Amino acid sequence: MDRYQSFANTGVGRFVVGRLGLPDPRPLRRHSPGSPPLDGPVLLGGGGRLVDPVRTVLKSAGLDVVAEAGPPGTDRYGALVFDASGIDSVERLRELFEFFQPVIRSLGPCGRVVVLGTTPGHAGSRVAQRALEGFTRSVGKELRRGATAQLVYVAPGAEDALESTLRFLLSGRSAYVSGQVIRVDPAEVEVPGDWERPLAGKVALVTGAARGIGAAIAEVLARDGAHVVCLDVPAQGDELSAVANRVGGSALQLDVTAADAPRRIVEHLVQRHGGVDVVVHNAGITRDRTLGKMDAGRWDAVVEVNLASQERVNRELLAADALRPNGRVVGVSSIAGIAGNVGQTNYATTKAGVIGMVDSLSAEVAGRATVNAVAPGFIETKMTAAVPLLIRQAGRFMNSMSQGGLPVDVAEAIAWFAHPASAGVNGNVVRVCGQSLLGA
Ligand code: NAD
Repeated sequence: MDRYQSFANTGVGRFVVGRLGLPDPRPLRRHSPGSPPLDGPVLLGGGGRLVDPVRTVLKSAGLDVVAEAGPPGTDRYGALVFDASGIDSVERLRELFEFFQPVIRSLGPCGRVVVLGTTPGHAGSRVAQRALEGFTRSVGKELRRGATAQLVYVAPGAEDALESTLRFLLSGRSAYVSGQVIRVDPAEVEVPGDWERPLAGKVALVTGAARGIGAAIAEVLARDGAHVVCLDVPAQGDELSAVANRVGGSALQLDVTAADAPRRIVEHLVQRHGGVDVVVHNAGITRDRTLGKMDAGRWDAVVEVNLASQERVNRELLAADALRPNGRVVGVSSIAGIAGNVGQTNYATTKAGVIGMVDSLSAEVAGRATVNAVAPGFIETKMTAAVPLLIRQAGRFMNSMSQGGLPVDVAEAIAWFAHPASAGVNGNVVRVCGQSLLGA
């Protein structure tokens, strides 16, 4: 917790924050093994093609599902889930209002709103389905006390490919994800034997794993059962070994920009592990200067680490057939790649390029692997600790949660992409930014 957040959560702090209408950064409820995913029942409404399969999924996830709202003020819900997939005219958008308006104030702290729609290209009314975005994003901005809202577009035939996404969204794993639009396509889903260890028997490569977000990704993927190959530059060797030991994985010291890096990475994965299931391109650097003051060295270094080397590694992995069936490639973009940022023409170019990589590669490998990216907002790491205090505090406040996210929040979203049952989640870029105002 930063100092403002600590203050705002004391008795006096709550009073001052409430009176002055200041940002109110409530502690977020995060996933902890063994504790229930939500703090209250799920109210499930709507009448499209998804309501029955979703009820089955929620029950299998151990959630308490209710179909009818009690009298106003009597219940406190952990989540409100509405199947809007059958809304086929603009007039029927009123069903959203009728479901949510009476119950929205009964959503508990860190509660969840999930709207399910039909991917607009496949819908009876493209207009009505597209309209769901504005509704969901606004609900996300109105919710308080750590609650989140998302829209999931489900293509026809993808009804059985939803479970990993619903389990992610309806739990503390998505604590810092809000206002997002996720698309799920039909896919043959690999159901894990144990939902607590979905990556058991799988091998994951995480670049930039010595610290920060990369170390958290290694921890979460290992928690989910994967053997994690932790990669970082030789200069970070001690930190890297410490992370690899902690997660029961292995360390691979190399610079991803080296000419022989793609060959060495693929050789390592194939010789030691017979291939790889999950590749997370997390290594990234910033070399900030406004364009007029930027030297070619800063430009080149950022492009090499954040984008060019990743393309080369992907090419080598695919050429050597080292990515196993139902494989996963995950990129780490940034809200700067969506919104642009002063002093970051180089960085934002590469982070938008990561989104381009998702678009092109996801189409190329569809059916045998998925390619997605997270776009983090303000995450509390060494990278952001170096930002001047005033800008840092603004970064923390300019989002619906009024706080920065933690590395684990990014890692949990990556673990959802990496999940063997997430085969229908392909070509998505999901922001982990607390619904930041930047690029919204
Ligand atoms: P960090 O600087 O703490 O960690 C980055 C790691 O990558 C370091 O361990 C570093 O040694 C490694 N690395 C750098 N160059 C490398 C190379 N050539 N070969 C191998 N490893 C290399 O950064 P972080 O905050 O943990 O960020 C991780 C990723 O998340 C980056 O891609 C970053 O752009 C992205 N991101 C971070 C934030 C944030 O708020 N922290 C926001 C948006 C996106």
